[in-house]
Amino acid sequence: MLALTNVQVMYDRAIEAVRDVSLDVAPGQIVALLGSNGAGKSTLLKAISNVLYPEEGEILHGEISLGGDSLLVMPADEIVRKGIVHVPEGRRLFPLMTVEENLTMGGYLQSRGDVSAALDRVYKLFPRLKERRKYTAGYLSGGEQQMAAIGRAMLSKPKLLMLDEPSLGLAPQIIEQIFETIVSLNHEEGLSILLVEQNASLALRVASYAYIIENGRVVLDGEAKNIAGNDDVKEFYLGYS
Ligand code: ATP
Repeated sequence: MLALTNVQVMYDRAIEAVRDVSLDVAPGQIVALLGSNGAGKSTLLKAISNVLYPEEGEILHGEISLGGDSLLVMPADEIVRKGIVHVPEGRRLFPLMTVEENLTMGGYLQSRGDVSAALDRVYKLFPRLKERRKYTAGYLSGGEQQMAAIGRAMLSKPKLLMLDEPSLGLAPQIIEQIFETIVSLNHEEGLSILLVEQNASLALRVASYAYIIENGRVVLDGEAKNIAGNDDVKEFYLGYS
């Protein structure tokens, strides 16, 4: 479905944030992308959804394609239309708009009927958002904002959801809830998911395949259960050996 081949991304023609990365996400798969701060994970997601600012980050080499079509030449809105939707780190809601307005913004490419059906689905998935639908997004808790960011992405009818650090800054109980939703989106709606996470143990629990990236390079990849059993991964990413 999504295929990256030997992708290299540079910032300011000086900082090589992504080096020679090849990666695949198959239909219906959850793939985890793990690595420490500054490893290049967010840059990779931005390269896929084509939201790198040209004057800053540039893809200098490689190919990124979806079902055989190159994404390198596609504008960001066309990539959304193709079904790749990016939930960025920090959620990026419109803080002065209500929850429902934020969700509806995600459906800007859809018809009115589709938006209303998708809203119902999101409210079923996150009853909390239904209760909060008239609230200004800036006043939501971190967990509610993450739900709204995922909900907004759902309004774009994704085939592949890219989630950047969905657990960041959230309480353990809320993280569990968000991850349950991620799994149910995958199981029940058949969504493919590319999941960037610092919380490696959680990500490896839900993913079937994982890539570990350090200094812009893939240093290890494999079935999630094998990665979780790897001694170096246990020591450096899971906090035990
Ligand atoms: P984090 O979890 O902290 O976001 P990350 O793995 O997502 O980490 P990136 O944000 O992709 O890492 O950053 C990769 C490298 O690129 C880092 O060295 C970072 O400092 C650099 N970088 C990121 N954004 C820019 C930018 N706009 N201009 C210049 N350098 C950047």
